[in-house]
Amino acid sequence: MSRAVYPGSFDPPTYGHLDIIERASRSFEALKVVVFENVQKDPMFTVEERVSLLKDACAHLPNVEVESSYGLLVDYACANDINIVVKGLRAVSDFDFEFKMALMNKKLAPEIETVFMITSLKYLYLSSSLVKEVAYYGGCIQELVPPQVAKKVFARVQAEKNSKTSKGV
Ligand code: ADP
Repeated sequence: MSRAVYPGSFDPPTYGHLDIIERASRSFEALKVVVFENVQKDPMFTVEERVSLLKDACAHLPNVEVESSYGLLVDYACANDINIVVKGLRAVSDFDFEFKMALMNKKLAPEIETVFMITSLKYLYLSSSLVKEVAYYGGCIQELVPPQVAKKVFARVQAEKNSKTSKGV
């Protein structure tokens, strides 16, 4: 049985992520979408919130499971009997980082293959950080993320702005 993992921060999940998830769910028999805590990022949503948003967005995909993890991706894969890692590639800027990660993972666990899926053209420019930035400055994000995600992002942005105003920032 082909079992794959699609790891990421998903802060928040976007239609770019969901496009990769839907395509990967058609390519592998079972797909785990795993929210990894990234200590270098200052997230907008907790890991639990991101898992919940992804579960809602993937509810129509019966072979997809969403969960969270921490630590090394290869350790997660080995513990869950998974030998394929799915990554999305947007542009040359993704390539350098993903290439290094894939080679390091290969060194740590040679039996695990990284499979790259090229972004769909319409999501080439789409990233979680850009979604947050557009929302912060009042732009429309309806075409970038599912409706329930857009609602949560705007609520969080508003809360952040209110807290700045009350502190006089
Ligand atoms: P980011 O914070 O850069 O959006 P994530 O860690 O959430 O990244 O991304 C998880 C995975 O999804 C990575 O492999 C990333 O390259 C991929 N990805 C993110 N956005 C897109 C997109 N618009 N199209 C294709 N792949 C994407």
